[in-house]
Amino acid sequence: MQETPVTPVVQAASQGLARVFFAAGYELFLVGGAIRDTLLGRDFRELDFGTSAPPGEILRLIEPLAVAGPHTVGERFGTIGFRTEDFEVEVTTYRSEEVYRAGSRKPDVTFGKTIGDDLGRRDFTVNAIAWDPIRCELIDPHGGVADIRAGIIRAVGEPATRFREDPLRLLRAARFAARLGFAIDGMTWEAMRAEAPSLSWITRERVRDEYERILVAAYALRGLTLLRDAGLLQYSVPRLGELARMRDHGPSHPLSLWDHVMRVIDGVPRRPAVRWAALLHDIAKPKTRTTEADGRVRFFHHEEAGAAMAREILLGLRYPQRFVDDVTLLVSTHMNLHAYTDEWSDGAVRRLMLRLGDHYDDAVSLARADAIGHSPFGHSYNAPKFDALEERVRLLDQNTVSALRSPLSGDDLMQHFGRPPGPWIKRIKDALLDKVVDGLLRVDDRGAAWRLAEDTYERELERAETQGVSHG
Ligand code: ATP
Ligand code: MG
Repeated sequence: MQETPVTPVVQAASQGLARVFFAAGYELFLVGGAIRDTLLGRDFRELDFGTSAPPGEILRLIEPLAVAGPHTVGERFGTIGFRTEDFEVEVTTYRSEEVYRAGSRKPDVTFGKTIGDDLGRRDFTVNAIAWDPIRCELIDPHGGVADIRAGIIRAVGEPATRFREDPLRLLRAARFAARLGFAIDGMTWEAMRAEAPSLSWITRERVRDEYERILVAAYALRGLTLLRDAGLLQYSVPRLGELARMRDHGPSHPLSLWDHVMRVIDGVPRRPAVRWAALLHDIAKPKTRTTEADGRVRFFHHEEAGAAMAREILLGLRYPQRFVDDVTLLVSTHMNLHAYTDEWSDGAVRRLMLRLGDHYDDAVSLARADAIGHSPFGHSYNAPKFDALEERVRLLDQNTVSALRSPLSGDDLMQHFGRPPGPWIKRIKDALLDKVVDGLLRVDDRGAAWRLAEDTYERELERAETQGVSHG
């Protein structure tokens, strides 16, 4: 008998459940990620079980265990989930195959008869191992344990067929390589390159979820580079192909755009928004690239063009508007931080802080990584500059700056000038806030604020008259 591949906690939980199912005449095995991660010494929070019991029976058997809120999981009919103190548990009826119709998120499920059927329909050998809690035995018909030990992602069965059944597996292969730091087996790799075009009919949401997992993975660069080399970028998020297209940054920057971007990703925290911003911060460089007479290569306004491209890419992937706004803010401001010098006024620093708000930390990480990412040796001459900026931001205090506002409200202004709401209010409030940010007006100094408001209002009236527009 093999050594038990699970911890005592997992063993106890698995055995408790297996006995209940066994007594009712069903099999139950621990499957998937928990075994893989135990063998790798990695933490995990999910326990997945495969069983011969049909979904209705799973519910019936789980009910007396008084577990917290049993529920059918998402759209994957046949899975019952519940929570224990230590784990998210999912119990799923054996499957034999899953067929994803074009454009569909829901697989057509066929139930399997044996654990062998169930393991056979799984994607990669490292995910196709089961553990029998009653006999304390590993079931490993596809050589998953050996592949875990060797660090290899290998398709279960004939790779091309498996990718054609569900092209999302192409991205999943890169995801597991990125998460575990594994290599892709040769035959599986050939099939990935050959089947890459089938990715184009996968729904955008599924593509998005895999990209996000790859971006925050421990070996994100490996995953992204696999996507590029297998030709998967082109068929999943075609615009990312731009990153691989531009050769260099000109004579003074020896790294390719791709190599630069990879270094920047590596240098920012493993959170989705800032990782996406790192991936996309220079996306418009190929488009904006120009060469000066002296041979210098420039990329005028690439941050704005890049923010627009980032917006289009992320909305295309069905990211929520808020997330898209966060990423595009980081992309569009990334050059502002590079422009910082100690000659900036406090007002200028406060303005940057107001613009970045909660994203200030991510923006600084991105700028630092960007500066380092241009050097083949991972060194940045700009580090002291960012240190100085951070020190000033600390002194000006983000909370104090976020609380800055116009001393007069829209209601104050409407009452005072006897005018209906309109763009004029925002213009006066912005003018007042500008003075506050520059330290020329205190938030509680309503007297000075009214004098300024009167002046601004006068100018507004003149502006309206000379432009012949109504003062709305
Ligand atoms: P994670 O920690 O990300 O949840 P995981 O190994 O649990 O990692 P899941 O994506 O949750 O991965 O999938 C659970 C199991 O279901 C996998 O181990 C795999 O065996 C199987 N599986 C999931 N999606 C597919 C698919 N598209 N094709 C084949 N098998 C799949
Ligand atoms: Mg899982």
